[in-house]
This record gives sequence, C-alpha cells and structure tokens, in this order.
Amino acid sequence: MAENSPEPLFETVALIGIGLIGSSLARVMRERGLARRIVISTRSSATLRRAQELALGDAFEADAAEAVRGADLVIVSVPVGASGDVAKAIAPGLKPGATLTDVGSTKRSVINQMAPHVPAGVHFIPGHPIAGTEHSGPDAGFATLFDGRWCILTPLPEANAAAVTKLTAFWQACGSKVDVMDPDHHDTVLAITSHLPHIIAYNIVGTADDLATDTKSEVIKFSASGFRDFTRLAASDPVMWRDVCLHNRDAILDMLSRFSEDLTALRRAIRRGEGDTLHDLFTRTRAIRRSIIDAGQDTAAPDFGRLTTPKP
Ligand code: NAP
Repeated sequence: MAENSPEPLFETVALIGIGLIGSSLARVMRERGLARRIVISTRSSATLRRAQELALGDAFEADAAEAVRGADLVIVSVPVGASGDVAKAIAPGLKPGATLTDVGSTKRSVINQMAPHVPAGVHFIPGHPIAGTEHSGPDAGFATLFDGRWCILTPLPEANAAAVTKLTAFWQACGSKVDVMDPDHHDTVLAITSHLPHIIAYNIVGTADDLATDTKSEVIKFSASGFRDFTRLAASDPVMWRDVCLHNRDAILDMLSRFSEDLTALRRAIRRGEGDTLHDLFTRTRAIRRSIIDAGQDTAAPDFGRLTTPKP
C-alpha cells in the first residue's frame, strides 16, 4: 500500500491473471493505495515468477483457489474463453460477501460461463475496462492505463447495489469513468467500436501478407501512408482476439453483414465515379473523429506512431 494514503477501498484484492490488464491493475492499486494486500495468481509458473520479480503484489500463489481465499475483491483478467474454467477453479476459495469481477472484452459469454460457479453470498459483477494496448504480459502494464478511460460494468438484475457502488468507486480510483450497461447491449456496442475494427485490421494486414514478395516489401516501406495504423491493431494478442471472435459471434456477424453492405455501396460509388457520395461520406466520418477528440478519448496531435502515449 502507498505510504500516507487514506484507508484502502479493499483489504485484500486477488488478481487472477497478471497480463496487460491484471498488471496495470496491480500497479495502479499499489500507486494509489487501493488495497492493503494484493495476492496474485496466474496459470504458468514463468508468468508468476515474472510478476514476483516486478514486485506487483504482496503474495504469489500458484493455486488460484488459495489466492482468492480471504480476498474481499477478486478480479479475473484472463482471455474470455478461459473465464468459466477459472471461475470453477476459484469457487471453493471465495468467501461470502466477496466481490468477484472480471475485465473480459465480451460480457454475455463471460456471465454464462462464470455465473453457474459463483457461490451464494458472493457478489458477481462483470466488468470491462475500455482501455488497452497491443502489448500483453506482466511487463506490458502501466499504472495510468485506465486514466480517463471508460469502464463498463454489467451487473445482473439481482446484483447487490452496495457492491456495485463500491466496485464503481474502485474503478474511479483507478482513473476510469464508469458506465453501467446491460451485457447484451455491451456486446453490440463493442462489436462495432472494438471487435469489428480489429477484425478489419487482421483482414487487411493478412491480405498484404498474402501479396507477392516484391509488393509486400513495398507495403512495409510505404506503410506510413495508412497501412501502419492497421498493423497496430493487428498486432494484438492472438489468443485474446480468437476468444473475442468466438465469444461475441452473433453481434460480430451482425456488424460484419452491415459492414459488407456498406462496403458494397462504397465500391459502387467508386465504380460509378459518384464523387458527391464519396465526399459526403468522408465528411461525415471526419466529424466522428472530431467528436472522439472532443469527448477526450484521443488528442488532435498528429500521430507519428503514438510517441506521446506512456511507454509500457
Ligand atoms: P494478457 O496480457 O495476454 O494476459 C493474460 C493472462 O491470462 C495471463 O496471466 C495468462 O497466464 C492468463 N491466461 C491465459 N490463458 C489462460 C487460460 N487458458 N487459463 C487461465 N489463465 C490464462 O491478456 P490481457 O490483455 O491482460 O487480457 C486479459 C483480459 O482482459 C481478456 O479477457 C481481454 O479480453 C480483456 N481486455 C483486454 C484489453 C487489451 O487491450 N489487451 C482491453 C480490455 C480488456 P500465463 O501467462 O500464466 O499463461
């Protein structure tokens, strides 16, 4: 706990999974004194050792059920496809009155996987910080990751209101703004704001990779003309994104259908030489960029490779 800090929000917080998100939480909790004791558990001994070397917690447990024993807050930060197995593994150690949350990028599937294992008396409140980078692992985290970013909580209808309020205060202390949302609505919104852009990026970078060798070398050489911006998204963790695609399938397929229709219309406008149609669309999209900057979710500074963001 940070020295001279006020009373921590939680006595003991257990972090299950200590990659980009888990280790960012560990760092911000330490820096801002949000927990008296942080216990860390992760699947592999190599990652647990690394978390220990980085001094991310006060205790390090190979056994996830042991790690959550006595914890007031348990945060599961693993790929969404693993959340059911993790919930099953930690269930015997969860104490009555504890809050259990997660950070997964899909919500309905996580609820379906985790809820059946949650013991009576434990407050299960799913969550998703809308903050991240293309890096992963315990070295990738940084304490300011959540500053000014949204965190969406998707409590079940029967959720304990006081527990939701306390978890909201926790995320606010981590730097986030908090919104509460229905899980299905979350999955629809994130399908367009996050999942589709990543899928498009994976696709365009994959197409470039399939080009003939000489063209491919020019793609790399002249990448600053646009391609490079897609490669950042397409460098994101393959396991995480495989799981997102498999676990938000319906909403993603819906958005992909709409995207394909719009792409067909755009293709037709280009083929027919409909300059006004193109100009109207590009003007409309430019305004979206403006509103993201106005909402404080990016800066208007020219971006030559995100040199201005904190180094992980
Ligand atoms: P990460 O850096 O790759 O770390 C993943 C962690 O989960 C590691 O501790 C890893 O353990 C553990 N893990 C991986 N597979 C597992 C399995 N099958 N069973 C149990 N544990 C497993 O991932 P991250 O970026 O922190 O993402 C964690 C969660 O946050 C995901 O659900 C993701 O959807 C969500 N999220 C990510 C971002 C982002 O931008 N990255 C943003 C918001 C939310 P070992 O290393 O010990 O194997």
